[in-house]
Amino acid sequence: MDFVKALSTDNLTAIKTAPKTDIHSHAFLSTRLENLEHWLGHSLERPPSKMRGLEGMMEYVNAVLSDHIITPDSFKFVASSGIRDAIQDGVVVLEMSFDIRLAEYYPDELIGVQSFLEALVEQYRTQVNLRPELGFPRTHADDPKLMALAHEAIELRLFQSIDLYSYEEACPPEAVKSLYAEARAAGMKLKAHVGEFGDAEEVQRTVEVLDLDEVQHGIAAAESVEVMRWLSENQIQLNVCPTSNVMLGGVSNLASHPIRVLFDYGVPVTINTDDLMIFGQSVSEEYRNLYQAGVFSAEELNDIRYASLTVLS
Ligand SMILES: [Zn+2]
Repeated sequence: MDFVKALSTDNLTAIKTAPKTDIHSHAFLSTRLENLEHWLGHSLERPPSKMRGLEGMMEYVNAVLSDHIITPDSFKFVASSGIRDAIQDGVVVLEMSFDIRLAEYYPDELIGVQSFLEALVEQYRTQVNLRPELGFPRTHADDPKLMALAHEAIELRLFQSIDLYSYEEACPPEAVKSLYAEARAAGMKLKAHVGEFGDAEEVQRTVEVLDLDEVQHGIAAAESVEVMRWLSENQIQLNVCPTSNVMLGGVSNLASHPIRVLFDYGVPVTINTDDLMIFGQSVSEEYRNLYQAGVFSAEELNDIRYASLTVLS
């Protein structure tokens, strides 16, 4: 059954069968909560359906999840299980971000990270194109040791893209400019979280300062026709995570999600999970939710899916 028919007949199994991408996924929270519970052998409190921004989400993560996900063994489980979740969902290209602080888990730091990630890529090679992404938290832009590690990580030629995240106000893009220049020179794809909550102008400014190829979220751009036109002219792709935006309060409900207006202005958009452990919706489910909320027709969703695959092939 084709994807359009699968959506219009609400056949989730068939929706999952269609090839798709997830290019906004954070390894630390990448598997379903149920899988973590099964691995731990006990249940965990569910996240609230609405949280107050990133701060609200971190309150939940710190209160309920942190003890269970920040040990080396649990991280290895979550990342591997997240890859299996993606495969089961029909994801064929997975750009999963691995936080640079992961190096702290290994006595030999980046050497340990490298062997873990190379083994993961190899283990799932026949099922998914896993493209490890280097993740850098904005809260640590003034940490010289972590910044030096991130520069070293680029030199490994292991990471195919770079991403910047955590509180948007924690550092301006200028603080990571040299890191991004090095990533560009190494041929990496440049991405950063911006415009999840902030304003449209900051989305454009961050793209310009860091020479970004793509933006994680970037939905605040919908507040400015000028910025949307600029993104469209420059074909800067926004990797959108609809359920994440609704649960963290950036968007009040799915039906009014700005992904529609961004699409109408010709801004390239993709549909992604962000943190499956928190938001609970796979890429297939995100497509289905957008269809059922009347945001896009099945044909438009198929076009978005198809475009995400061709850009990466
Ligand atoms: Zn994210």
